[in-house]
Formats: sequence, structure tokens, C-alpha cells
Amino acid sequence: MNTELFVENCYTLTPKDLLLGLGTRADINFWAEDPDDKSDWCISVSGNEPQKIALEWRDITYGARAYFRCMCDYRATKLYLPLNGHEFKCRRCHGLQYQLTTYNRHSVAGKVLYRLNRLQKLSDSRASMGRILYNGNYTKKFERFLSLCDRAGYDSIVKGAMDLKDLIKG
Ligand SMILES: [Zn+2]
Repeated sequence: MNTELFVENCYTLTPKDLLLGLGTRADINFWAEDPDDKSDWCISVSGNEPQKIALEWRDITYGARAYFRCMCDYRATKLYLPLNGHEFKCRRCHGLQYQLTTYNRHSVAGKVLYRLNRLQKLSDSRASMGRILYNGNYTKKFERFLSLCDRAGYDSIVKGAMDLKDLIKG
């Protein structure tokens, strides 16, 4: 099994990362070619020749949303950099697959993996959520997080949140 080709083991880049200047790896540097435009980007991995990446803007109900235009012409919301890779491409171009789908989800290992993956996603979403209270009530995002915890079987988180709300309400 070539674990370099699992989505889970790749560095994931979103348009937001570029636009907000977010980055978690010191060896990945990016900059807009024209600081006033922010459509054409250069991104360099470990000091290699920079790769040019274009953002494409699509109008949605409130404003515009940015997508990547991959070299294969696919409009992607995420580009991936495999372990030891130097080039960002879409999932299909890199031939990536989800590690989860290689396990039978009814096997013992599969069940554990699914549960851990779910927990990881929940903790990622919690980490990026920001405030959880507004006017003494939980925000919509946090309510949604709680319902996902509930479905995933994390009763203690759900119960803790309900107890806290009771305390706040007095
Ligand atoms: Zn592609």
C-alpha cells in the first residue's frame, strides 16, 4: 500500500489559505504576483522553483467565492501536496485515494479508523469555529457540531454542553 497517495497524508491547500495568508508548514511559501489582484499566485515548496497557481472567482449569493483551476482544467476547492512532493494538484491528478475507503468499514480496524477519523474531523471543526456562545445561546455552528457529536456517539461532549447551557441560563 503506497501511503504517500492517501489524501489523509497530503498537505491540503485551500483558496482561503492563500487569501488569508494561512500556513502550517515553514517550507511552503506563497505570494500573490500582483498584490492588488490576488488571482495569480506563486507557491514554492522547500525553496524549489515556484509553481504558478490561479484562483478563479465565482459569484455566489453573497459575494464571490474562490476556486483553484487545476492544470487538468478541473475547478477544485482543494489542492494537494503529497509527502515529499513539490507540486500542488487536484486529487485526481495526483491519483489520491482516501485511506478510509481502503478499509472494510465493518472490520475491526475499519470501525476504529472511521471513529478516529470522525473524531479528528470534529476536533478540526471545533478548532476553527471561533466563538460558541452568543447572547447566552450556542451559535448555529456549535449546535451543528453538537449534533454531529451526538450522531458520532460522543455523549459526554453533548451532555457537557447541555449542562453548561443550563448553568448559563441559571
Ligand atoms: Zn487536476
